[in-house]
Amino acid sequence: MMPSTHVSETSFEEINRIFNLQKANKQAVKNSSDKDRCKKLQKLQRAIHSQREGIRNAVHADFLKPKEEVDLTEIYPLIVEIKSFCKDLSKWMEPEEIESPITMIGSMASIVREPKGNCLLISPWNYPFQLAISPIISAIAAGNVCMLKPSEMTPHTSKFIKEFIASVFNENEVAVIEGGMEVSTHLLSLPFDHIHFTGSPAVGKIVMKAASEHLCSVTLELGGKSPVIIDETADVTECAAKIGWGKFMNSGQTCIAPDYLFIHESKKQAFIDAMRLQLVKMYGQHPAQSQSIAHMVNAKHYTRVKTWLAEAIQNGASVDLGAETNDEQNFMAPTLLSNVTMDSKLLTEEIFGPILPIISFKNVDEALVHINKNQKPLALYIFSKKNKNIDYIMQNTSAGGTCINDTMIHQAHPNLPFGGVNNSGLGKSHGIWGFREFSNERAVVRQYLKKGLVGLMYPPYNNFVRRMINLTIQYF
Ligand code: NAD
Repeated sequence: MMPSTHVSETSFEEINRIFNLQKANKQAVKNSSDKDRCKKLQKLQRAIHSQREGIRNAVHADFLKPKEEVDLTEIYPLIVEIKSFCKDLSKWMEPEEIESPITMIGSMASIVREPKGNCLLISPWNYPFQLAISPIISAIAAGNVCMLKPSEMTPHTSKFIKEFIASVFNENEVAVIEGGMEVSTHLLSLPFDHIHFTGSPAVGKIVMKAASEHLCSVTLELGGKSPVIIDETADVTECAAKIGWGKFMNSGQTCIAPDYLFIHESKKQAFIDAMRLQLVKMYGQHPAQSQSIAHMVNAKHYTRVKTWLAEAIQNGASVDLGAETNDEQNFMAPTLLSNVTMDSKLLTEEIFGPILPIISFKNVDEALVHINKNQKPLALYIFSKKNKNIDYIMQNTSAGGTCINDTMIHQAHPNLPFGGVNNSGLGKSHGIWGFREFSNERAVVRQYLKKGLVGLMYPPYNNFVRRMINLTIQYF
């Protein structure tokens, strides 16, 4: 049986107490220098290194995630992020000088990025450590105080994060609030200055609605269906390796996992054959026994995916690979399916599990029509050797991010923004984009003249002023 436990729930009184403590402390934190903030981030980095085994054990206890995958996908991205912040933070904190038009003669303009203040961070279960800590890095770097609510679906990691954060920060600066929907709902009723939410589009809408009560800004890192397109020029062995890695890492429970595949009909069988070999290479003949593959997070999500698989097969889908399941272990083998009907849940909902439906096409426009009928994806992947085909697909689609001839690596690039578009998310994370998301961009003009050009146009509106207005409209 998979280990199971329940997350403890922080009481509403305790939440209110910490909220007020942080509110009282936000001005002091706002005044911190770049050096102060870097010191905090470096302390966090040292704690990640020294408690690495604890992180690996907690995530493994939640869904048997291989420890190497914890290192690569939960720990390493945070180290990269902290290093990039410490390298550039002082530059990002500098007021940005802005060029002024002639009408502003005698003044200087700049953008001052100031902390938003009290921030709420709500994180999901699928990368339970990384996605909880990453927004803390941006929030701290931008000079905010914050409260984090990790997911209740990964209780071991949630408990670990609470103790871990308490070992690094005072609760009046960063605090962890454990609990499920009720706790989350209470947090959302408080007047935060900014909310950073990572999770499903459905809950993202609830968060945005709650934020509107206080006109609080939001960053929504959401999900959805991320398609892959393989055209007639692609190398199927390369595609199988890269899609196999991106799709089946974390057992498909990744927001930017390739969700479903459109492939040119001439390549379909060769791709399935290549994927069969690739899966044996990665997980052996019996993936259920492999130590290199995560399981589904819990019985609820396992049953959801298993039910969708059964529904698709009942409606005529055929299994190309995999489909073995183990109820005791919440395990489903990496699965490829053909002939899935368009109204099946596997093609209407985000799969978030180890199933890849394959749809073949004669003309790429068939894929584009389908993709554009749906919500704009968080990621869209293109495999092609022909620039003309790549440009055509790029030009005729929209997505939060895209990899050409690879999967998922755009998320790991330290100098690229990460986020969705519309239904897949609002706002961006990582590096300077994360810093800006947690900052208010304050527009500042400093006037050096006793009477600037605008001062010549104050009332009363006599002939002179009228002439000045006309000249301004005509020439400036
Ligand atoms: P979820 O939306 O169910 O839950 C996310 C968080 O919201 C959890 O902490 C949960 O306790 C809280 N929550 C749940 N219901 C709530 C409610 N009614 N009111 C207030 N809070 C509530 O998402 P999940 O199942 O944890 O994660 C999977 C989803 O997250 C997928 O859609 C995936 O694509 C997306 N995701 C996106 C990213 C990204 O960076 N864009 C990263 C990981 C996951």
